[in-house]
Amino acid sequence: MGVPTLYVPGSLFRQKSRLTTNLYRCLGIGQTADMPSADPALRILQETFGLAQFRPGQAEVIEAQIQGRDVLSVAPTGSGKSLSYWIPAVLGSGLTVVVSPLIALMKDQVDHLRSVGVPSACVNSTVDRGDQIAALNEAAAGKLRLLYLAPERFARPGFLNRLAGLGVARMVVDEAHCISTWGHDFRPDYRRLRDALEACGRPAVSAFTATATPPVREDIANSLDLRDPLISVTGFNRPNLRLAVRRCRGDREKLEVLREYLDPGEGRVIIYTGTVASADEISRTILAWGHRVVTYHGRLSDDARKQAQTEFTTGQAQIVVATSAFGMGIDIPDVRQVIHTQIPGSLEAYYQEAGRAGRDGLPASCLLLYSAADRDLQTFFIERALPEPADVQAIYEVMCRVGLWSLDPDEFRGAVSDRALRSLDASRALLRASQVLQPDGSVLRVDHLSIDFPELARLKRHGYARLAQVLGYAELRTCRHARITSYFGEPNVVPTCSACDNCLDGKPPEVAVEADHSRVAISCVARFSGRLGAVNLASILRGRETKWTKSQSWVSDLPFHGALKTWGESQVRTLLAELVATGYAIQSNGEYPVMEITALGRDVLSGAAVPALTLPGEPAIASASPDQSLLGKLKQWRAETARGLSVPAYVVFPDRTLIELASRRPTDAQQLLDVPGIGPAKLERFGPAILELLA
Ligand code: ADP
Ligand code: ZN
Repeated sequence: MGVPTLYVPGSLFRQKSRLTTNLYRCLGIGQTADMPSADPALRILQETFGLAQFRPGQAEVIEAQIQGRDVLSVAPTGSGKSLSYWIPAVLGSGLTVVVSPLIALMKDQVDHLRSVGVPSACVNSTVDRGDQIAALNEAAAGKLRLLYLAPERFARPGFLNRLAGLGVARMVVDEAHCISTWGHDFRPDYRRLRDALEACGRPAVSAFTATATPPVREDIANSLDLRDPLISVTGFNRPNLRLAVRRCRGDREKLEVLREYLDPGEGRVIIYTGTVASADEISRTILAWGHRVVTYHGRLSDDARKQAQTEFTTGQAQIVVATSAFGMGIDIPDVRQVIHTQIPGSLEAYYQEAGRAGRDGLPASCLLLYSAADRDLQTFFIERALPEPADVQAIYEVMCRVGLWSLDPDEFRGAVSDRALRSLDASRALLRASQVLQPDGSVLRVDHLSIDFPELARLKRHGYARLAQVLGYAELRTCRHARITSYFGEPNVVPTCSACDNCLDGKPPEVAVEADHSRVAISCVARFSGRLGAVNLASILRGRETKWTKSQSWVSDLPFHGALKTWGESQVRTLLAELVATGYAIQSNGEYPVMEITALGRDVLSGAAVPALTLPGEPAIASASPDQSLLGKLKQWRAETARGLSVPAYVVFPDRTLIELASRRPTDAQQLLDVPGIGPAKLERFGPAILELLA
């Protein structure tokens, strides 16, 4: 975990104990359970939970809560947020209510708390009615320290009154990003939290989340009306993760790269896919390569999922191929690789999943494989979940006509558009929520559906904005660690690192694009502004015949037709992407994104501006040719070293670094530092061995 960043608006309270904790850390003294501490929070940590010392950020967040202060804590999953509200709950008087949408995890948490003697209970839809009542009675009688609630409780008639009688001292809002439509997991039930807070007399509030960007944080603070909160953002910078992205031409290339890259070493690998079908397929392929692998997704039975998880956590299988359903509440220290074979819907989702690598602090790697088609899959998800008003209306009308709402998808076919049909589940859910679908199966006819369409439109816009951000990460040519920490708003970000492909591989030099080339591309965008997407535009610029150009023979007469004939497809696509990145054009959202010219782009065409674009050049190749026998020796040394450290070989050094070493033959530390992939840490660790080998 990186250096904690902490904002303590207003006061420097409790500096002392923080310094004390830090002092112990510096001296390498872990306070242990047989060294009782004067700090009550530390004592609970040690005596109740059996842990030696606080992790970065924990002590401050705990102390603020003990002081009765509101708190907003943003830290990655697995960094110890639960503990940060358990300790104040144990120490304080009164009840701590924990609101969480993750019903499946509540029982584990309550079991754990009870096993260490902290009286706790949970109330959610999976709990027997009798047990629910018993839990609430115990809470009302002051017998519980923590009560976990699912947010949908707040919608139940009378529940808020019940809550008012429990003597709530603090409300903990877990997964607090769910309150924001900017977050990647908005939950309307979270909007009721404010009423719930009011109902219990506005106790202190602690909001916790693993994935809040600055706008989401602001939303959380506003929606919960946090009062002078301690805001703590820690742990996003994880230098032990090597971040890399590979753009692939399609699924076939993705599998090739996967095969070459896949290496559990002594640890484990998680492979994330976008759909259940691709999880099954990739799993079969990997099995055929001779690995033991399990598959995990939401469509498996509970038993099958449990079994897969057990085989993976116990190490019977070193590889799991999974959808995003995998990983919640699973804390595995030695995941050495997390490989995504498709782009997830947001950078939050990506980093949450990728961040499951290297929990033990040892080197681990996160590889994102993506192709142009990945955008389409995410677009499909967005469109399917958030239907257009006209589509909901069309589906409603068919239901009204038939008089029944539980129709098969087939019965809508022909009567509504394909797009509407794809949104059937979501549309039905919206109609149900607006109470026109009767319990007896009939449909209530109304003139105006009470559905908040502007809200849906907003959610959709935000969905597309998040998608654009994660696509931006994929295309990024600067430091990925810096991008991620700044995305999550963790300050003091260093602009380069020694653990991402862009910093390590030595960025290929940028090559300036001739102004004429940029100009023809901009003319082409302008001519078809708002009508064609990048694929078609690239075909025209390259003078390639497509179904569309064939039907529009005049296209070949356009002055820019074939103007970039000598360019490769991906080069032209990169150029078009660069036009968007630099503001000469924009790309629309939606299912069929098209490119549009901007005012800046028009300035180029009128001669008022000269475009200045650069594209990545050919990947830098080793300056001299490597000595092959030396390279062989270096590879052998790397394999042995990697085995000794239980890490994959490329974690020690990527091939590129070995090639450079074999061709440059550095003779001292300074020369070693000039080799791409060798920074101070690697120098200290491996420098002497390499110099010896090269000598
Ligand atoms: P989060 O809620 O942020 O996902 P948890 O509170 O579930 O994280 O903690 C994840 C793991 O880290 C748990 O196994 C927990 O026991 C452990 N943990 C939390 N705090 C500490 C600490 N100070 N020292 C050692 N382990 C800790
Ligand atoms: Zn970097």
